[in-house]
Amino acid sequence: MTNCTVCSLSGEHPGISVDATGLCNLCRLDIAGDLLVNFRYTSAVFDEFQRAPRDPAARYDCLFMYSGGKDSTYMLDKFVNEYGKRVLAYTFDVPFESAHAADNIRLARERIAADFVLDADDENIKKVMREVFNRPAPAKPGSYLDEKLPCASCRTFFVLRAVLHAHRGGIKYIAMCADPQQILTMESNVREIVRGFYQRFGDRLTDEVFRGELEQLLFAEDDELPRIVFPFIAMRHDYDPDAIVAELKAKGLYESSPMETHCTLFPLLNYYAFKHWDCMFYKLNAASHARAVRRNGTGTERSTFSIRFPQVLDITGIEERLRKVTLEIAAGQGDRAEQLREVTAIFRDLDADEDAARFVAESFVAMPEVAADVGIRLP
Ligand SMILES: [Zn+2]
Repeated sequence: MTNCTVCSLSGEHPGISVDATGLCNLCRLDIAGDLLVNFRYTSAVFDEFQRAPRDPAARYDCLFMYSGGKDSTYMLDKFVNEYGKRVLAYTFDVPFESAHAADNIRLARERIAADFVLDADDENIKKVMREVFNRPAPAKPGSYLDEKLPCASCRTFFVLRAVLHAHRGGIKYIAMCADPQQILTMESNVREIVRGFYQRFGDRLTDEVFRGELEQLLFAEDDELPRIVFPFIAMRHDYDPDAIVAELKAKGLYESSPMETHCTLFPLLNYYAFKHWDCMFYKLNAASHARAVRRNGTGTERSTFSIRFPQVLDITGIEERLRKVTLEIAAGQGDRAEQLREVTAIFRDLDADEDAARFVAESFVAMPEVAADVGIRLP
């Protein structure tokens, strides 16, 4: 097995190839060329949205995907109070996410002049996740981001719910607060997102979970389809999470929680990545960190779940320890107290504070219960 000499990604990682000089395609920036095209397109669509004159016949200028996290709260405030947009703030209640964001949504409802709508569909999003986890092993070598497929499928499901909501209401734009790194890898054309879901899950399941409504979008005229805009594209050079939190707190719009975006499926996401792709869920983030350290001497990588990779980190060692304990818990083997200690230690090494590390560790040992609740089969 060959590993990249800069970022240590394996040549068997989905979407990664390592050349004869020991460099992977990400370090050679092969993919970056494609991504740059996507970046230009999303920039252009955002400019068009910003300049679009107000349509007096429409009630809203956009549907805004509002999670209650810091990024979307910050941008919602900007859309309404700075850009003067008429906004329908749309929140999908993901059943796997902890309720920390609810406080921020309450503050936003009190202080931001937008309409708010809360959507949910526990049964069907769980059906989709069951399908992702329980289907047979994916074909090798796979493609870029395949190890994060459960995460991407969940997001795609509720993005499509939002698309249908906008389509029904005649709303022309959907604003989505992906961070600058996510924007690079996200499909922004609505018809392509629909097509991708049909390809991934087949006609039967897709029509079942969207009650046949999605099919209309495949055959709709281009100008009937909402367009997705990524507002963070405008601030890609000065995206600063700490400054965003400081500004929100000053405006009384934010109650911080170290685990604000914690997903109860996180341990299962790791299990999926180890089982099918022999890597930890955060492997690309860790590799990107290693690349930045080599290039700049400092790491800039900061993922969701509030984990910062420390300057000096034995990523291979961490991955090996996490693999062992994750697979053991999934198999229902080993000692629970020992597993709690080990996962806490691993996340402390990933720079989480004591409370956050313990919180994550508790969720890891609870993996079998969460799996049973959703209907995900463990070995
Ligand atoms: Zn590399």
